[in-house]
Amino acid sequence: MFTLIELPYTIEALEPVISAQTLSFHHGKHLQAYVDNLNKLLPGSEFEGMALEEIVRKAPAGPVFNNAGQILNHELYFTQFRPVGEASQGPDGALAAQIEKQWGSVDAFMAEFEAKGTGLFGSGWVWLSADSDGSLVITQEQGASNPVVKGLKPLLTFDVWEHAYYLDYQNRRAAHLAALWQIVDWKVIAARYE
Ligand code: MN
Repeated sequence: MFTLIELPYTIEALEPVISAQTLSFHHGKHLQAYVDNLNKLLPGSEFEGMALEEIVRKAPAGPVFNNAGQILNHELYFTQFRPVGEASQGPDGALAAQIEKQWGSVDAFMAEFEAKGTGLFGSGWVWLSADSDGSLVITQEQGASNPVVKGLKPLLTFDVWEHAYYLDYQNRRAAHLAALWQIVDWKVIAARYE
């Protein structure tokens, strides 16, 4: 049985970047539904008892993959944020050095990340991940997919499903993605990289 993760902040804490209404629906309705769906699908299946990431790596395209993938994606998404003014701004240490080596600057990385999120057609996720050598890569994942399927370690993600931003930003996906940097806690991202 999987359970809904608790948010590491209050429901209003990410305003004005993500409203309490959006967060309430996104966490309490959308993510809860993925958890409930997966819990109904698992009993008696070959995936019963597996860890979430293993299910995502092993399940074929279909309902188990979709619901498990969306749980994994949202757990990584929600836990990377902190309130405006509290989120650790910008990478440092080894992660900053690797970003600067590959993109030239953190600003150049952020611009490419936003562009790949804005340019993803339909519903999905844009990710920063690390490969086994510590090199970084930005990928676009359609639907419920996650970079673990490609053998990558996911570090940072922006959800570009419309439910993530439509109440607050309507069609302005790019504006939503640009605003998210204010609440990305780079300490969390760096800990995932180490
Ligand atoms: Mn979502």
